[in-house]
Amino acid sequence: MPLRAKVASSVSRTAAALSRAAGRGDGSVIGGWIGLKIDPDLLAHLAAGRAIALVSGTNGKTTTTRLTAAAVGVLGRVATNSFGANMPTGHTSALAKAGTTPYAVLEVDEHYLAQVLEATEPHVVALLNLSRDQLDRAKEVAMMAQLWRAALVRHPSVRVVANADDPMVVWAATPPALRSNQVEPPAVTWFSAGQRWHDDSWVCPECGSPIERMSDQWWCTGCPLRRPEPQWVVEDDGVVDPAGDWHKVVLQLPGRVNLGNAATALAVAAEFGVRPTDAVSRLGGVASVAGRYAQVVRDGRTVRLLLAKNPASWLEAFDMADMAPTLLSINARDPDGLDTSWLFDVDFAPLRGRQVLITGDRAYDLAVRLDVNGVPFQHVRTFADAVANVPPGRLEVIANYTAFQDIRAELDRVN
Ligand SMILES: [Zn+2]
Repeated sequence: MPLRAKVASSVSRTAAALSRAAGRGDGSVIGGWIGLKIDPDLLAHLAAGRAIALVSGTNGKTTTTRLTAAAVGVLGRVATNSFGANMPTGHTSALAKAGTTPYAVLEVDEHYLAQVLEATEPHVVALLNLSRDQLDRAKEVAMMAQLWRAALVRHPSVRVVANADDPMVVWAATPPALRSNQVEPPAVTWFSAGQRWHDDSWVCPECGSPIERMSDQWWCTGCPLRRPEPQWVVEDDGVVDPAGDWHKVVLQLPGRVNLGNAATALAVAAEFGVRPTDAVSRLGGVASVAGRYAQVVRDGRTVRLLLAKNPASWLEAFDMADMAPTLLSINARDPDGLDTSWLFDVDFAPLRGRQVLITGDRAYDLAVRLDVNGVPFQHVRTFADAVANVPPGRLEVIANYTAFQDIRAELDRVN
């Protein structure tokens, strides 16, 4: 590395360590910020010489990044931004902290994918899904797909591993020239992770015609865009690889959505030459991801934390949650997005028949929504009140970003 980059990297590590020591989070954002101030090309310098995978999408990227890092770990040391700092400052900090590693697996905020592709020249990029998120500031889904596509066209040599079940992802991952010839682009490996949420992909991003669906399949009624044949598929409690071999996947993480994330991780790792038989047992070693899915026992209640921050992820959370008392917590602080109207895009009917409690800064928004949906609920002021109001046994907690952090902090204090 050039001297300037060496200095920048060293200062970045020190700043992050000081920030951690001062109890101000994991320090990765400030560390990366200072490093990039000293050397604006620091991320590119740190990325050079590593085989890199980028993981992007609206939902599941933190978990998929973690599973992918575990799978690629079969080959050697892997640098990764495991705390969800998914912008260039976080990537810079993660690579500076890790030192020299042959591999890196980086979670990338979908808005920064083009910039990070440019800086890191990855071997492979994984595209998970695109759906509405943070209504007051995120881009429209179709615009996001357009940005991804433009970025990939500028990097034709990068391997793409993409979700065949999401029409927006398929369109973004398929270069225009190939699409018009109806030829499957050779550089894309398709996986099928399922897609519960369809409300951002009823209209074809290519021609504006309606998209039709039948069982697993989808197709545009006005142009050749349709679901490509996936090479990696979730089947029962395992994953089928491109050779047609089925691998049982035993995860500690709940839900079918995480089996899909595991399939994605195996597909990305295979791009580095990792055989699924070697990687699959490592996926089972991942117990929680930045506190998500963590189970904590408190006052005889087994509390499980699920993060859900937009309509698509709420649907997945309902699928993961057991039929048990469930606490929902909603805030609308800066990291959450200030607009909670997306609550009306979520069908809360799956919660009927269980004890539902609500809390958080915007619990009353949730109250209106649940009332409209015909779901009885009880409002509690604090997490401790929620625990006191449910019988011993399991308590499922589904919370959006800062609400999740608040509850995690309270649990950490007690435990
Ligand atoms: Zn179309």
